[in-house]
Amino acid sequence: MTAVYVHYPYCETLCPYCDFFSSTRSEDQGFFPALIRDLERWNHWLDEGPVRSLYFGGGTPSRMSVAGLRQVMTTVARLWGWPASPASPAEVTLEANPGDVTPALLAAWREAGVTRISLGSQSFRDEELQFLGRRHDAAQALDAARMIADAGFASYSLDLIFGLPGQSDRDLDESLDMLAALRPPHVSLYGLTIEEGTAFGTALAQGLFDEMKRDQWLGMYQRVCQWAQSLHYHHYEVSNFAQPGHESRHNRQYWRNRSWVGVGPAAHGQRLTAEGLERRGNPRSVRAWRQNLEATDRPFLAGAGLRESLSADAWLREACMIGLRDLELGIAPERWCGEFGIDDPALFAAIQAAKASGWIERSGACRLTSKGLLVADQVAERLLNATLGSDQLQGASVLGQVPRADV
Ligand code: SF4
Repeated sequence: MTAVYVHYPYCETLCPYCDFFSSTRSEDQGFFPALIRDLERWNHWLDEGPVRSLYFGGGTPSRMSVAGLRQVMTTVARLWGWPASPASPAEVTLEANPGDVTPALLAAWREAGVTRISLGSQSFRDEELQFLGRRHDAAQALDAARMIADAGFASYSLDLIFGLPGQSDRDLDESLDMLAALRPPHVSLYGLTIEEGTAFGTALAQGLFDEMKRDQWLGMYQRVCQWAQSLHYHHYEVSNFAQPGHESRHNRQYWRNRSWVGVGPAAHGQRLTAEGLERRGNPRSVRAWRQNLEATDRPFLAGAGLRESLSADAWLREACMIGLRDLELGIAPERWCGEFGIDDPALFAAIQAAKASGWIERSGACRLTSKGLLVADQVAERLLNATLGSDQLQGASVLGQVPRADV
């Protein structure tokens, strides 16, 4: 079983906080033929079917043609196949921009096989949406959420970004109240992170605004967690909350550090082997990606993108670090060591030390405690490096590090 990620890189405009690979050029006619070729190429590299999860991310996949979407669905079925049991169908997620959503488009996506929509709502306050450079307003986000529910999608997700410069608890509550009224099956509540190389990164360096202070930011994080808990959402990942059965299967494949395929420019994939992990990535440019595809039948020309190999030991450390994000499944280092026939006493000692500090609890798997969640970055770093005896952990930063804001 594997997962497939499809990167659709086109966006109407670029949001100032975004560091995903995206382009404001128009999709050209050759894009989907190249994407199909890319799927075929990756299938040579990783052909463990069936596909349990297919994810259209971007960019703005809600701008993708329905014909192109259908082509991808058909190709995935041909190359890997879908699960045989109708009781456990594949999860097919599409990220959507609120301004793009219409009842007709939602019906077409459902008909094409999409089972889950991830709506980039980001905020329900116009002022914040403008600051974030979004093309939609709060009314459009509300309308889109209602259209998705009315279209009969059994699962969908809305997201919010908190921790904006100058944002107050009351501002945050306004968006949370709207979210509570909509009560989607899944919510992603991300803290704003400002990355170098983005427009926000430049503005920050120029002193045009200040980032929210860490204490206030953490207070907001705790506020959103309490809000979700009060509505009986299951806090299953650092930034993700779900009603039972609506956890993102696709993202879990990432948090388990298992195998998946990534097609399209800048996408990457990985496969587990008897020796460890191999990771491959496509060039971060539509042109270079297309040239690479046209140049050879051999997958992954040297120098054309990411190529990385991890030993089983390195994979284990990384899997433990990433796996801590999953607050429900946690990490299972003994079992994972058994899979590869390896041992890692330093890692186990680091886990033991984190447990003694109250950051990790063990019942079968190891999971972050609520205390550990607030120092999650440092716990993860401890496991990755297994540097025992270093200074007492202080502060917290994991909560804003990895979360991605969808379109
Ligand atoms: S946040 Fe989404 S819509 Fe905005 S630039 Fe990034 S990928 Fe495009």
